[in-house]
This record gives sequence, C-alpha cells and structure tokens, in this order.
Amino acid sequence: MTTTRMRYVEMRLGPEPMAEPYIIEVHCTSCEAASTPAPEQVPGEQRDKAEEWALAHTGKADAEGRHHTGYRVTVTMFWRVTPSEDIDPPAAARGRG
Ligand SMILES: [Zn+2]
Repeated sequence: MTTTRMRYVEMRLGPEPMAEPYIIEVHCTSCEAASTPAPEQVPGEQRDKAEEWALAHTGKADAEGRHHTGYRVTVTMFWRVTPSEDIDPPAAARGRG
C-alpha cells in the first residue's frame, strides 16, 4: 500500500519573464512562404509587421500570375507557473527510485 501525502501550495501563473511576450508567425496557405518573426521593440510592432508581410505577399503574383490571399497566423506565448514554495523534492532525493 502506498501512502500519498498532499499539501496545498499557492501558485501564480504569468508571462515567462525570460521570453518574448508573444511571437506572431504568418504562413501562406497557398505556398510554403512564412514571415520571419523578430523580437518586438515597440508594443504592437509584431502584429503590424505580420500584417505588412501578408499584404506584401498578396501583392506579389506567383509564377502563374495568381495572388495568394489566405494565411494561417499562429501566436505563441510563454507562461511560467511560480509556486509560493519549492514543490520539487530536495536535490539529494531526485533520481532515486
Ligand atoms: Zn504564398
């Protein structure tokens, strides 16, 4: 029989402080073209650049003279959960059993 000990630990969920707030990538649904996301210097800059990329891509005709108008946009965010106290076993106990 196994005994499980439980405890209540308050946790806070928030943005990962070491990562970009978000990354926006635009992929053309007609070809393999995709935007190149860059770190944001000014709030909203990534969204503006993603929109500009899509508009510019549509403005260029492909080899058959057609304009690509469909896009798949992905927004990636990074979160971090911060427990109010250490929830991992002590370093000496890790890797055992
Ligand atoms: Zn395309």
